[in-house]
Amino acid sequence: MRAHPAGPRHGEIPVDHTSVVPVDLNDLDPVVWPRGARRTTGAMTLAGNDVRDLAAQYGTPLLAMDEQDFRSRCQDFADAFGAAGDVHYAAKAFLSTHIVNWLAQEGLALDVCSAGELALALRADFPPAKIALHGSNKSQAELEMAVDAGIGAIVVDSYDEIARLAGIAERLHLESGGGNGSARRIPVMIRITVGVEAHTHEFIATAHEDQKFGFSLAGGDAAEGVRRIVACSGLELIGLHSHIGSQIFDPSGFEVSAHRLVGLLKTIIKTHPDLAASITTLDLGGGLGIAYTSTDTPPPVDAMAKSLTEIVERECQAAGLAVPRIAVEPGRAIVGPGTVTLYEVGTIKDVHLDGGVVRKYVSIDGGMSDNIRTALYDADYTAVLASRSSDAPAARCRVVGKHCESGDIVVRDCYLPADIAVGDLIAVAATGAYCYSMASNYNRLPRPPLVAVIDGTSRQLLRRETDDDLMRLETW
Ligand SMILES: *Cc1c(COP(=O)(O)O)cnc(C)c1O
Repeated sequence: MRAHPAGPRHGEIPVDHTSVVPVDLNDLDPVVWPRGARRTTGAMTLAGNDVRDLAAQYGTPLLAMDEQDFRSRCQDFADAFGAAGDVHYAAKAFLSTHIVNWLAQEGLALDVCSAGELALALRADFPPAKIALHGSNKSQAELEMAVDAGIGAIVVDSYDEIARLAGIAERLHLESGGGNGSARRIPVMIRITVGVEAHTHEFIATAHEDQKFGFSLAGGDAAEGVRRIVACSGLELIGLHSHIGSQIFDPSGFEVSAHRLVGLLKTIIKTHPDLAASITTLDLGGGLGIAYTSTDTPPPVDAMAKSLTEIVERECQAAGLAVPRIAVEPGRAIVGPGTVTLYEVGTIKDVHLDGGVVRKYVSIDGGMSDNIRTALYDADYTAVLASRSSDAPAARCRVVGKHCESGDIVVRDCYLPADIAVGDLIAVAATGAYCYSMASNYNRLPRPPLVAVIDGTSRQLLRRETDDDLMRLETW
């Protein structure tokens, strides 16, 4: 069995719903909603801001990010992994200059995977030594940009990349006068495909993986990759890296990957004892899961950190190795839970299905352009009526967007109060990760603003796109 369904679910839409009717439709489950979300009576508030005021001030759709939620999750990770670990925030989940600043203030490191993400981080003065560059097809220009900026690590993903880096190292060597050992070496990690694919509660462990990332352990490419890196005097191998999946709740997939990485480390050090001092880090990647609905039960960060640390310590002891630093790369787990998307309801249709079932199609003013995850991954989300409370009974609903696409679904199955009406505001929870960063202008919709809320105040981190923005690439 594949651990998670890839790609969109086409065609037939199942009538049977999987969601459970909530006991109280006004309730905001704290595992799903931002730490600063409240509803005593009436409208939802976010860090002391009434969502109706946010909608009036910034318009809808709107992403509202609870700044304290973001910062406190950074602190949770830093505390949980402690001084013996490195927490790298994965930029691809969501990045803006303000986020870069918050990460720097909270002491986290940053992973980027393109020149664009790197440029933003550097522009916002993030310390280069705390940046790592990922990517399965880094260009010559991207590698040069990273080396020239002096970033902390390049996570090498292919033989082609080793050859490109060797060329850059040669240039540095020449620039430094060509003397012995005078040029700085380029710090690299090597991405290992360990044969583990993990998702939520399951993982599959195989020898070979049929995917584009990294150097295969089973196929011998990992050992050959290490050999080529070590053979290049301008490169310094500082760590082994793996990334096994996303939305993971259970540490057992990490256990298998750590076991395999430590096995590789042992082999490397046996052949090259001098590398014991330079390979300081075992990077287990990202993928730590969050709650999108009340039925999701991700482990607390400190419990996950304890499991991962124990696993690596145990594996290293068994292999007779000193325990390296453990690095993790959470994206979703830091930025996901603290953001909600606010939409205004524009159209409501009762659709009569077989067996007398009625499904209320609640159309909102955004959709797959601001949240592609439901269409792309069949993701689940939680939605509530946010602009008021209601004692109406629960109605089976589907929250859909305004795009010309029947797959334009934001929340496939949910219950909303039966008196939901045009003009109401709907909030969708846990939209901080992979929503804005994957947003598009499909149907030429402008991307929504992203507003940070804290202590009863709000400010835009990103403004809404304008008509001019949408025209700016046209050549007239
Ligand atoms: C995507 C990615 C991450 C972050 O994944 P999350 O599920 O957001 O934690 C971390 N590391 C690598 C290499 C990735 O590709």
